[in-house]
Amino acid sequence: MIEHSGWTLYKRLLGYVRPHWKAFALAVLGYVIYAASSTALAEMMKRLIDGIQNPDASFRMMLPLFVVGMFAARGLGTFLGTYFMSNVARNLVHALRCDVFNHMLHLPGRFFDAHSSGHLISRVTYHVEQVTGAATKAITILLREGLFVVGLVAYLLWTNWMLTLLFLAVTPLIGGVVSYASKRFRRISRRIQRSMGEVTHVASEALSGYRVVRTHGAEAFEKARFARASEINRRQSMKEALTKATSTPVIQLLVALSLALLVWLAMSPALMADMTPGEFVAFITAASLMAKPVRQLTEINATIQKGIAAAGELFGLLEQPPEEDRGTVEPGRLEGRVRFEGVRFAYGEDQPEVLKGIDLEVAPGEMVAIVGRSGSGKSTLMGLLPRFYRPTAGRILIDGVSLEDYRLHPLRRRIALVSQQVTLFNASIAANIAYGVDDATPGAIEAAARAAHAHEFIERLPKGYDTVVGENGVMLSGGQRQRLAIARAIFKDAPLLVLDEATSALDTESERHIQAALEEVCRDRTTFVIAHRLSTIERADRILVMEGGEIVEQGPHAELLARDGAYAALHRLQFQDPQPA
Ligand code: ADP
Ligand code: MG
Repeated sequence: MIEHSGWTLYKRLLGYVRPHWKAFALAVLGYVIYAASSTALAEMMKRLIDGIQNPDASFRMMLPLFVVGMFAARGLGTFLGTYFMSNVARNLVHALRCDVFNHMLHLPGRFFDAHSSGHLISRVTYHVEQVTGAATKAITILLREGLFVVGLVAYLLWTNWMLTLLFLAVTPLIGGVVSYASKRFRRISRRIQRSMGEVTHVASEALSGYRVVRTHGAEAFEKARFARASEINRRQSMKEALTKATSTPVIQLLVALSLALLVWLAMSPALMADMTPGEFVAFITAASLMAKPVRQLTEINATIQKGIAAAGELFGLLEQPPEEDRGTVEPGRLEGRVRFEGVRFAYGEDQPEVLKGIDLEVAPGEMVAIVGRSGSGKSTLMGLLPRFYRPTAGRILIDGVSLEDYRLHPLRRRIALVSQQVTLFNASIAANIAYGVDDATPGAIEAAARAAHAHEFIERLPKGYDTVVGENGVMLSGGQRQRLAIARAIFKDAPLLVLDEATSALDTESERHIQAALEEVCRDRTTFVIAHRLSTIERADRILVMEGGEIVEQGPHAELLARDGAYAALHRLQFQDPQPA
């Protein structure tokens, strides 16, 4: 991932603040009021001391009014600052979170192969919150206390500039400590955030797979794995605590030393001579008032560094190139002529070739079955059609146009894919069938469900089509889930249909029903069917046998049987040989 300097990250974050500049300006105004009224405290001390020495009637009226006015102004400033800064920060988080999420939805398949969902989820939850921490707390303190320090320094300079300059001579020392701590914080924070992602990842795997964990008696294993991830997180957090705990007192000590020096200097006869007692007290007051904001300013460093580290990760993610979509051709109602020309594919540069030169021409409306051992590349080949991955060599054409030349989104709308792993959303059955379509009519949904032989079981559910299916359809059986997935594909009414072991979880009875339905559905569209049970594909126009990433045989069922090659061997294995007991 690209390393970002703190400054470029700030600039990008500021880009998110820009649309809310009015609220931001109000917040800054609030902090200016706060800082000015707080600084007035020192001035009040001066008037108090000088006033006690020469009391008069107007002084007695003025001083209480001054006190009330000062705190009223401070209150207003605090309100404006706190409220409007939260407003800006929350807007920032919202925008950033949506940007990250939206961007992730367009990242290529390779990205998801390389990152676990736990790590990705922690980006939109934990990381974004870290940025909020930096945005709300840190920017608030930075502005509020920063402006207060500026006000105090200005006041000090105005009261006695020589003394002030002496006082400020210690500042570089403080700066040095802060900058050392910054670098360390950022490094540690990044590690903490990664380890947080790991904690989420391990937890989500073990919790969503709780049945596998229990049937394997792997509770102890998962506990240990989780404890390890959490322990790494704990250790990093302790390192952070240590850095924070040491840097804060060191900075405070430096401030105290400079304050002591200041008092000592101020009490020198030469300087004392020029100041009234009131001025002297005001000066010391202002200087000691500096301690709190300076301390707060140094403490927020940790928060800011966390935010920057998190922002770095997020912007790094936002810079990941999205799926390539340079196509310009709008696929109309496609005929469905598919052509593979010398297609080769590997999942990564360092990975073995999974497809080794596929040449294939499929006519519109043809039903092609693909069979072969698992791992022979059937799913991979079909995954290339909706451009989940790009072939490493060769090309694929639909209706004579290279896939790359089609606009990605409309192209995908014309391919319906039912894969081995059914994904259902925790919504109603109707919403799952008409996924992504807002204005689907109940009639169309039911028709799709009927074609997929899902209507019968849906009707028997207590709430019918309005039944909510639970996370990934836990309320349904495997066969029911598959029928919903098929209904979803039928509902999509796409000219290209891919069924990747879409009926493997069905019993023979329902499979036969669906078979009949599919023949109906497949009539005027190009269909690819991957199936393990050869009985289901006998009626396909053509059967391809894949082996090790190549098509080793093709033809209709009867012809392949007669040829007595790979297909005939597979067929014998399934039908003639009695299963060993
Ligand atoms: P089939 O569908 O015929 O069972 P696949 O196309 O799923 O086979 O897999 C073909 C090969 O590609 C297998 O060796 C598998 O290990 C590999 N493979 C599949 N998916 C990925 C992936 N996302 N990343 C890396 N390798 C993969
Ligand atoms: Mg497969």
